[in-house]
Amino acid sequence: MDKIFAATNEMLYQLSEEEFNRINEWYPIKVTSHIMSEISKKKSTRLAAQFLPDSRELQSDEGIGAFFPEEIHNTEIVVQKYPNRCMIYTTGVCFAHCRHCSRKEKWHEKNNFSYFLFDKAYLYINQNSHLEDVLLTGGDALANSDDNIEYMLEKLSAIAHIKSIRLATRAFTSFPDRITSKLCAILEKFNKVVVVTQFNCTDEFSDKTVAAIHNIQKTGTPILNQSVLLKGVNDEFRSIKDLFSTCAAHRVIPYYLFHCFNVKSVGHFRTNVELGEKIINNLVGNIGGWWIPRYILIPDSTGIKIPLCPNGLVEHSEASIRVKDYRGRILSYE
Ligand SMILES: *Cc1c(COP(=O)(O)O)cnc(C)c1O
Ligand code: SF4
Repeated sequence: MDKIFAATNEMLYQLSEEEFNRINEWYPIKVTSHIMSEISKKKSTRLAAQFLPDSRELQSDEGIGAFFPEEIHNTEIVVQKYPNRCMIYTTGVCFAHCRHCSRKEKWHEKNNFSYFLFDKAYLYINQNSHLEDVLLTGGDALANSDDNIEYMLEKLSAIAHIKSIRLATRAFTSFPDRITSKLCAILEKFNKVVVVTQFNCTDEFSDKTVAAIHNIQKTGTPILNQSVLLKGVNDEFRSIKDLFSTCAAHRVIPYYLFHCFNVKSVGHFRTNVELGEKIINNLVGNIGGWWIPRYILIPDSTGIKIPLCPNGLVEHSEASIRVKDYRGRILSYE
């Protein structure tokens, strides 16, 4: 902790020991030696802001908890918001605690994988054939042991109506050593699995990270990226453009860019919505189409994802459609 305290004061702000301890009590500080060494090697304030504590976490008590009124809890660990897909909370553990995490209220619970709860989740999904897509999340899905991951994938893969299984992890950024050859050998056995990760800036692409990406890809498993738009990390056009170009260079598919959730103690990371719209719309035409993720807004009242852009529609009336191309020309489309 002393090392983290020193690094915080060197990289970010002057935090008193008392503030540091108070933050740690509310929202436990957790980093890996990989993250610490990348922060110091690269002098990366963008990594520091994501993983080291900030006194503003104590100030902003605006915002809601991470859990939304409209989600349906089918079992203790299965949550559903959309007709054909659901999430399973497989563990409460993450390798590191992202300060902007929308589930940080849950960090205290420290739930571990449970066969009893997973089997109940499995039975529910097996009996509900409208469910086609399962997200294994947490925490970090790769914080589960290899045996437990294999167990979950084996069970879910065998369900005929399940078309895809997503494994959500930030191990590429926080703990790339987790992507072992043993884990890759497990992934190679399954053909419904997609890995979903979160890269928010190019500083996260260490040599170990890139090797881990390639090792996962060699198993035939695609990797999708979900970023969050974060003040002090990636709230500039250049930073976002470089991020998605770097993802693309490693065949990581930019899937979503989230507007930062309105969660307690995360307020200092939030930008306005226009910034995200502007950045994503400005990417259109200027970088490859598949390099551009959808910008997603999640209203507090529902917790349901709404894609905002890219969007070239200016106006749509009964008589005509007006659209805008990437050069800024407004055209009528009859
Ligand atoms: C976000 C989310 C999903 C996945 O949504 P996609 O738009 O398919 O990525 C599924 N279930 C829950 C509960 C979610 O919050
Ligand atoms: S890895 Fe995901 S769940 Fe874990 S702390 Fe980071 S954002 Fe939150």
